[in-house]
Amino acid sequence: MADTTTIEWVVSVARSREMRAAVWNPVRGCRPASDGCLHCWAAAVANMRQHNPLIGARYQGLTTKTADGRPVFNGTTRLTDDDLDLPLRTKKPTVYFVCSEADLFGESVRDEWIDRVFAVMALCPQHLFILLTKRARRMRAYMTDDGGFGRWGYIENRAKHIARQVLLMRMGDLAGKTLAHYGQSNLPNVWMGVSVENQATADERIPELLATPAALRWVSAEPLLGEVDLRRVHWRDGDDDIYFDALAGGHWMIDSLGKEMSVDGPVWGRLDWVIAGGESGLGARPTPTDWARTLRDQGAAAGVPFFFKQWGEWTPTGSVDTYSHGPKHERAYPTAEGVLLFRDGRTYMRDFSVKEHGERQRRGIAVNTAAVIVDKSADRDFRRMIADEKRIEDDPLGTQWMYRVGKKAAGHLLDGREHREVPR
Ligand code: SF4
Repeated sequence: MADTTTIEWVVSVARSREMRAAVWNPVRGCRPASDGCLHCWAAAVANMRQHNPLIGARYQGLTTKTADGRPVFNGTTRLTDDDLDLPLRTKKPTVYFVCSEADLFGESVRDEWIDRVFAVMALCPQHLFILLTKRARRMRAYMTDDGGFGRWGYIENRAKHIARQVLLMRMGDLAGKTLAHYGQSNLPNVWMGVSVENQATADERIPELLATPAALRWVSAEPLLGEVDLRRVHWRDGDDDIYFDALAGGHWMIDSLGKEMSVDGPVWGRLDWVIAGGESGLGARPTPTDWARTLRDQGAAAGVPFFFKQWGEWTPTGSVDTYSHGPKHERAYPTAEGVLLFRDGRTYMRDFSVKEHGERQRRGIAVNTAAVIVDKSADRDFRRMIADEKRIEDDPLGTQWMYRVGKKAAGHLLDGREHREVPR
């Protein structure tokens, strides 16, 4: 199977290092973990490809359909030996996004499969591997497992076994040396990341990532479905509430008087890269401009590279030139395709019908991330705002119109600028 990719952030990292950009899918299949999985692209691809006579066997039985016809991963996962050794067969230095069609730390992915994936990465120091998971707790547990024989002992054995199979004995020894050098911690050519969509998922996953040994840690806030403050990530540790500045480093507690107090403890890592983006595809939810802006500004203040991938299906007012692009983009005018988006994520159809997963209903008030909220105060807000469109443009609370124009037309400019920074 062709492995090259056009995923923007993979391409940008590869370009910055004069390497190839590719995906590597030794494991396929998953199960939804949180609201960010609602329109999982990989599940849609798997559902479609299972009928392909050439590659369908890799995808069969991984998905089911929901009552409203959406394909979703059903928890079945599969390791494909033919795909496992792909990086070993690739000479040209390559940046690999690992498991773009799965979550490597998913519940039904066996430890032994993860060992084999890490073994291949250890055997390929010429490549860079970028991992992303929503199962941060398992990732941390796996990466810090030193019980019994020790995780890295298993990985080293796997690496030697794989090297023997492909007649690369010398590489097996090299991998052993690399693992001995970095043993019990990490591989220098592997970046570890977590995917978050709002503050709750940031609080759940980022502290786990900060405690995971890694050459580089990163976060993907895509699809961005809520405001995220990376300078104040909350972690419940037993009875204690601990807060982290995941960008600048440092952690603290709040005392009974509400004052911050420093705490001793292990030195936690910090984030080296932040990616954000809106949602694309059928039923995509719009992302308020301020949610993307605040992540950009947090990254800039801490000197952490920020990458804005895309707006997704929806674009904010003013991002599309409706006049110069002609009739093709007429639907970018504030017509029934426009929605009024509040900074807290409440989304209103202009025609007062409600949209939920692509379905319109006659009576209703607001659309939130996954559920219709019938809320009288929200209705009043909407009527008040729509009575004066100028107010919407000037609203300091960030209320704005968003227009459904499709991923390509929506583009990736944030306040008129491209943000495509990558770690050096
Ligand atoms: S974790 Fe990723 S691959 Fe798995 S269902 Fe969610 S979006 Fe899809």
